[in-house]
Amino acid sequence: MDEDEIKFYEQAGKIAAKAIAYGVDIIHEDMPVLELCEKVEDFIRRSGARPAFPCNVSINEVAAHYTARPSDTLSIPKGSLVKLDVGVHINGYIADTAVTISFSKNLSRLCEAARKALEHAISEIRPNVPLSKIGAIIENTIKSYGFKPISNLTGHKISQWNLHAGKSIPNVYSLEERGIILEGEVYAIEPFATNGNGYVVEGDYVTIFRYAGGKIRGKKERLLMRFIWKHYKSLPFCKRWLLKDFPEFRNLAEVFHKLVRRGNIYGYPVLIERRGSFVAQYEHTVIVLKDGPLVITVE
Ligand code: MN
Ligand code: MN
Repeated sequence: MDEDEIKFYEQAGKIAAKAIAYGVDIIHEDMPVLELCEKVEDFIRRSGARPAFPCNVSINEVAAHYTARPSDTLSIPKGSLVKLDVGVHINGYIADTAVTISFSKNLSRLCEAARKALEHAISEIRPNVPLSKIGAIIENTIKSYGFKPISNLTGHKISQWNLHAGKSIPNVYSLEERGIILEGEVYAIEPFATNGNGYVVEGDYVTIFRYAGGKIRGKKERLLMRFIWKHYKSLPFCKRWLLKDFPEFRNLAEVFHKLVRRGNIYGYPVLIERRGSFVAQYEHTVIVLKDGPLVITVE
């Protein structure tokens, strides 16, 4: 990786960290989730970067992939556990970071378990380390607190314009061959801890989408797909963004859903802990340098 690339990653990382800090500062019980998402995303744009995906605000048993819908009426519940997950990109160089905000004293140890797991995992990142070893560290740390890691969610390699660039970092030890960490790679590491049974299932609703491509039939369909590719490429987006960026979208809701049904647009289902238990998550993005990790998602 050359110095310019590292600079872009570092700039994106710094803005992502500041956006998280801003979100943590303004969030409060009863706050509309729509307001939180829009303020955090506006903060990113005002900082001279772009959101790499819609601001994720996943509450209690919802582990990931929830962003406010255009007229969302959901508010932050009293005593809840909120995962705030933010992505920033500059020229397609992505930083991905998350924290958990607890409005309940009883859940602070669960947060601590995920936070420590991330800290321990980062300290072991260097070239030639097997990815399965990082999974073991995450699992052992979370279990030492008496909780379970979520085994079917993983961290992921990042490359330019690609949020999930192949390799993944498991949150548990697995015998499965995961490959090794190489110098110059970028990873988002994201341990999830739960007081449930450690497994997420797909909910029956979708708030976040991504361009998938394939053969596109219909004039309006092609118009919409062209817009999405031009503005978001293959990065995740949401309907709130389309309504703002593309006024004609107001009349294209049917067309949009047709594209989702046909698989031209991929929808990320909301991910929910199987037993309905609480989930905490922390995440940083690191560049693997010769001597160890460079954490980019810091202020
Ligand atoms: Mn994330
Ligand atoms: Mn991630």
